[in-house]
Amino acid sequence: MPLDGQWALAWMEGSRAIISGNRERLIDLDRQIGDGDHGENMDRGFSAVGAALEGSSPDAGIGDVLKIVARTLMSTVGGAAGPLYGTAFLRAAKAAPVGEATPDDVVAMLEAALRGIQDRGKAEPGEKTMVDAWAPAVEAARAAAASGGDGAATLAAAAEAAEKGARATEPLRATKGRASYLGERSIGHLDPGAVSTSLILAEAARVAGEASAA
Ligand code: ADP
Ligand code: MG
Repeated sequence: MPLDGQWALAWMEGSRAIISGNRERLIDLDRQIGDGDHGENMDRGFSAVGAALEGSSPDAGIGDVLKIVARTLMSTVGGAAGPLYGTAFLRAAKAAPVGEATPDDVVAMLEAALRGIQDRGKAEPGEKTMVDAWAPAVEAARAAAASGGDGAATLAAAAEAAEKGARATEPLRATKGRASYLGERSIGHLDPGAVSTSLILAEAARVAGEASAA
């Protein structure tokens, strides 16, 4: 489907479902190296996003949708992830085009999201955080767009890299966030925020690859 406001709405609806379906898994991952609230936090946040977007105007643009997402996540998710995802979506909203997103717009939105997360959380790649999913996603999106991929292909490349990045957090030692309190004991577990990031980006790509509802 074209990457417009309808895509953004469908992406968020899909994210609500996928986060809800992975609630226990995210809780479990966060229990290993954190306080076990990530699944609950994210499920609460994306349920609230679903409610906030209900009855959105069919003319809403990507930026309009993502701004509501940002505000809702900031006020409902809590923990470290709330402000980080909130900032990511707010920056992506500001980078979004008025109409349909081109592959370069997709790259710009992902870059803006990553920069927002890093401005806020000060994590670099390799510190076992959601940055380890977002950073490779940005790089892969850039490469896909540069080699002539369309919007859906650019998102698919980003999603695939995010998933790989999330998987690669397992052997890392956390040096940012709550998991860093565990030191060496954080090794051998996936980072919950990197996993939730890969789920959300996978949804963005999946919905982009679908035929239009209309
Ligand atoms: P909390 O750690 O406050 O309980 P959550 O459990 O909701 O919050 O979220 C934890 C996730 O937040 C981690 O798995 C990690 O991906 C992400 N995170 C924590 N601190 C940072 C940071 N400084 N930069 C980027 N991501 C971070
Ligand atoms: Mg937690």
